Amino acid sequence: AKLAGKNCFRYYNRAMDHAVERRLYLEQELRGAWDRGELRLVYQPIFRTRDHMLVGAEVLLRWNHPTLGSIPPSVFIDVAEQSGLIQALGPKVLHAACEQAMQWPRNAAGEEVFISVNVSPRQLRNGDLVGEVETSLHTSGLAASRLHLELTETAVIGDEILAVTLLEKLHRAGVRVWLDDFGTGFSGLSHLRQVPVDGVKIDRSFVADMERDPDDLALTTAIIAMAHALGITVVAEGVEQRAQFELLSQRGCDLVQGYWLGRPLNADALVQLLEHDTAG
Ligand code: C2E
Ligand code: CA
Ligand code: CA
Ligand code: CA
Repeated sequence: AKLAGKNCFRYYNRAMDHAVERRLYLEQELRGAWDRGELRLVYQPIFRTRDHMLVGAEVLLRWNHPTLGSIPPSVFIDVAEQSGLIQALGPKVLHAACEQAMQWPRNAAGEEVFISVNVSPRQLRNGDLVGEVETSLHTSGLAASRLHLELTETAVIGDEILAVTLLEKLHRAGVRVWLDDFGTGFSGLSHLRQVPVDGVKIDRSFVADMERDPDDLALTTAIIAMAHALGITVVAEGVEQRAQFELLSQRGCDLVQGYWLGRPLNADALVQLLEHDTAG
């Protein structure tokens, strides 16, 4: 038994070593990935439920490594976050996204399309987010109202005093703030009153189970009603099927995003989609 335990321990250690090694390797590779042109941005369209109009797009980062291939954001964003690399990467994404949004034509309703940028918890706590936002708006010339920031619910709820101060500064800068992955943090509904946000994004885990799980449907319905009572916009993400779209539409969900409506597109393809929409 003693020997087995020892082997077991050694095996565990070795597995740990591999995980640690792989992480360190990814971190080292990620450090120069932007400058080597391995990182690129894709844009997933966001539609208004009422009239199916394309009203905005979320920017998502992609990493294509020369030997490892495509590495999912769930892996490398975490590496960037843990290592602190996100503090250099985040502003680059923000800046590039603002520059890109300046190239977009108006939508078919003649409205300016917004760009939604993910902000990681580390960027909230350490960097100078407000300064970076102001710099990006200034150098790109993008109207502040066209920039939306997606902050995760857990990051904001974690430190409410810091969050409220920061959100007020962002509002003064003129940008919109959304709570991402909403509903996963449990405390969400009760805190919605205290944090000044413009919208919530219902996490796709709720959308995925809405049809099967009455609790998820009830929660989604409650989030929409509560948000509207507070004058907050609601986006549902991860809409993969027509039935999900219909359920959300019936409940008055304002905006929708998901594979059923549109996959993330490269910059040119999004411009083409907008131009096509405008012409048709
Ligand atoms: P997120 O912010 O929740 O982004 C939405 C994710 O859902 C994206 O995955 C998107 O491709 C995916 N998605 C969209 N529609 C559907 C659908 O209908 N079904 C399913 N199953 N998935 C859908 P992605 O691009 O892999 O990004 C994963 C996460 O990585 C993001 O989650 C976000 O937290 C993070 N991330 C991506 N880009 C950035 C970035 O530039 N900065 C930061 N801080 N985080 C990022
Ligand atoms: Ca997001
Ligand atoms: Ca999300
Ligand atoms: Ca999510």
